[in-house]
Amino acid sequence: MESFVYDALPSRVVLGPGSLARVAEEVRTLGRARAVVLSTPQQEGEARALADRLGDLAAGVIAQATMHTPVEVTERVVARVRELGADCTIALGGGSTIGLSKAIALRTGLDQIAVPTTYAGSEMTPILGETKDGGKTTQRSLAVLPEVVVYDVDLTLSLPPALSATSGMNAMAHAVEALYARDRNPIVSLMAEEAIGALARALPAIVARPEDREARGQALYGAYLCGVCLGAVGMALHHKLCHTLGGTFDLPHAQTHTIVLPHALAYNAPAIPDAMARIARALGTDDPARALYDLAGRLGAPRALAALGMPEAGIEEATERALAAPYWNPRPLERAGIRALLARAHAGAPPLIEEGAA
Ligand code: NAD
Repeated sequence: MESFVYDALPSRVVLGPGSLARVAEEVRTLGRARAVVLSTPQQEGEARALADRLGDLAAGVIAQATMHTPVEVTERVVARVRELGADCTIALGGGSTIGLSKAIALRTGLDQIAVPTTYAGSEMTPILGETKDGGKTTQRSLAVLPEVVVYDVDLTLSLPPALSATSGMNAMAHAVEALYARDRNPIVSLMAEEAIGALARALPAIVARPEDREARGQALYGAYLCGVCLGAVGMALHHKLCHTLGGTFDLPHAQTHTIVLPHALAYNAPAIPDAMARIARALGTDDPARALYDLAGRLGAPRALAALGMPEAGIEEATERALAAPYWNPRPLERAGIRALLARAHAGAPPLIEEGAA
């Protein structure tokens, strides 16, 4: 048995159909009495319905969550939260709304209940990314980890199939990289393998029948586990590449992850036989990189960075940027290999494993 260190993070998870009805009880269990409900402008209706259900426990609704958690929005919202005399926040939404809730917690120490409605997984991580003057900073702190997470499958039924597909593939990327993380451990690897299987089975069913509650439930369970993976261990090439591509070419987050994942896995494949075996088992295949590429195709998700608007000339720039800030990866970063990986992802070609490169 190899030695390992595993920091289990302190959060309470309530998962099940109709569990939105339990939010009031969770507010009381935290010893709180004035919850402010957060959402994006698009999900204000659901946020107001939750505030109505909470009755006297609701201090108000703030429907101003914005992509990339801009600091100026957070500062405005913090002032409003203070005016309302709130003693906790309830974030109803995806990664953007949960990001706002985390940013408030960082500045005020307020407890958070997260009610995720996408598969992004932010609710299970102590990570906060914020933007200011066009620049993004990311920090890890237990102060931003939500105390309670309530997963209610009913809230995910309205997530459009295309967004469900890419949000789910984005979640799988957390589990895939957790299996070969430098600080991987057997507990997180169990969760990662389970999550990859659950999402790979659920996503095609959701795209075929978006109202399929069984498949939606499996996807939410898988996404929860993927969030734990992301919060527990460090990520590598895939996440760094997506971060670089997103920042440099302003590409959409989940779609970029969906496209790059098979290629990043193929690049690392020669160096990670154990992880490949586990991913293969989870996907029921002997070629996991190709299976992820095929899955994206079956889901109707984009498979070419060109289709997201990345210029071909950007392949060189992205290669240079990926090599400029060195970070740990199971296979050393080699210019030719990274360039080839990006060229294939740009064109939408299937992933290619370089046998013998490790
Ligand atoms: P999002 O929160 O930006 O939501 C996208 C849009 O979909 C919004 O308009 C939202 O209102 C809408 N939406 C959400 N759920 C819906 C539903 N069930 N039905 C209908 N519409 C719905 O998207 P996201 O992908 O969840 O989050 C992306 C952000 O989260 C990125 O900024 C990313 O960096 C961040 N993120 C952070 C972490 C972390 O650990 N800090 C982890 C993952 C993602």
